[in-house]
Amino acid sequence: MQRANTKTYFLKTFGCQMNVYDSERMAEALARDGYSQTEDVGNADLVILNTCHIREKAAEKVYSDLGRIRDIKDTRKRDGKETVIAVAGCVAQAEGSEITRRQPAVDLVIGPQSYHRLPELIVRAETKSEHIVETEFPGDEKFTAMKAPRRASSPSAFLTVQEGCDKFCTFCVVPYTRGAEFSRPVAKLEAEARELAAAGAKELVLLGQNVNAYHGEGPSGRAMGLAELIRRLADIDGIERIRYMTSHPRDMSDDLIAAHAEVPQLMPFLHLPVQSGSDRMLTAMNRKHRAAEYIDLIARVRAARPDIALSSDFIVGFPGETEEDAEETIALVKAVGFAQAFSFKYSPRPGTPAAALEVQVPEDVKTGRLHRLQALLDEQQGAFNAKTLGSTMPVLFERPGRNPGEFIGRSPYLQLVHAVGDGNFTGRTANVAVTETRRVSLSGVIPAA
Ligand code: SAM
Ligand code: SF4
Repeated sequence: MQRANTKTYFLKTFGCQMNVYDSERMAEALARDGYSQTEDVGNADLVILNTCHIREKAAEKVYSDLGRIRDIKDTRKRDGKETVIAVAGCVAQAEGSEITRRQPAVDLVIGPQSYHRLPELIVRAETKSEHIVETEFPGDEKFTAMKAPRRASSPSAFLTVQEGCDKFCTFCVVPYTRGAEFSRPVAKLEAEARELAAAGAKELVLLGQNVNAYHGEGPSGRAMGLAELIRRLADIDGIERIRYMTSHPRDMSDDLIAAHAEVPQLMPFLHLPVQSGSDRMLTAMNRKHRAAEYIDLIARVRAARPDIALSSDFIVGFPGETEEDAEETIALVKAVGFAQAFSFKYSPRPGTPAAALEVQVPEDVKTGRLHRLQALLDEQQGAFNAKTLGSTMPVLFERPGRNPGEFIGRSPYLQLVHAVGDGNFTGRTANVAVTETRRVSLSGVIPAA
């Protein structure tokens, strides 16, 4: 039942797509409780920061935002208005009561596995004077309790199928902030996907920290892998496209590779983080694969789906990385050829094994290596996009553009496409003739039907 409520909330999301999915679910829970969303933080009775802990910069940004929000809370109080401040997400999980110690204006700290309890905890925060810190790991409870959305905000919808990670790469906080690997049951995912399709979603983006390790319970009780799940979701009426992210090279099964050849809805795009091209670094990172194995895996994926666009994550300046190791990463990038990629300077995270290593790489060396790598990746991205010039591709349009008759969407290869056409194409797939390419986007025209 909806509570009588005239309150407003402001919600800011940091970090990955899983946080975006969680924020959407929190917004749904608050709407059911009668809250309305505001973009004006000064006007909000409830402020939620859904935070990211993956690199130091992301975590520190939260504390600087909290300082500003505390000032707003003080000003509102002088005007006789109360403000509840909640910190959610991975900083909440990792730092718990340290957050309220550093910023006492925070009322509620809530980890990613407790979001289903958000409305109840807000009421407690409003009525009690002490800080509330909720960072338990109750497993399945969150997904069971949090309802699927009533409307898809975009034709492309996120669907979290797996959460947590058991890999323990030595640089990474995820196994500590999101907990052990957990796969949601197939039947629940099918039900949620059907609701999303009924609400207007045309594309499902299956999310998981380690999504290709998915092994959810199937209808007969037997565990099903990601490829089986994809095949079942592809049968749902209205679902034209399926993507998944983020994958680990060790969990790229033959069945999943085959699905790229066989399932027309599965888009020709694969985000497969490699992190480094140096075996010495890969071992120190506990990545459980070698550079040559990655290159071989890519060859098998390309044999199944020759036009597949490849994406990856890289870390430069991991403790002990030498110029030679950095060169090996450059060589791997040249050998593979990426359509896009993310690269980061290594950021020591408290509590992870790599943070305790003594041979940290100086900041200016990390910066130099990052620039070199990014220049090569940018060049490859530009070249990948340039190859599409003159071709015609189906584009799923997500929103109107700035100019009259312009629409913005994604190609099968996840390229951002601006196209002009006669009609309203938002939420629809239409063919686009590509007339211009840039490093990060394409332009084209939608031929008259
Ligand atoms: N599960 C995915 C995988 O296996 O690669 C990625 C998860 S993480 C949210 C996304 C990316 O952040 C990683 O692939 C890695 O490149 C980067 N990352 C994680 N920890 C980092 C750290 N301590 N410093 C710099 N980058 C980091
Ligand atoms: Fe982090 Fe990914 Fe490694 Fe898991 S597999 S520890 S999420 S980088």
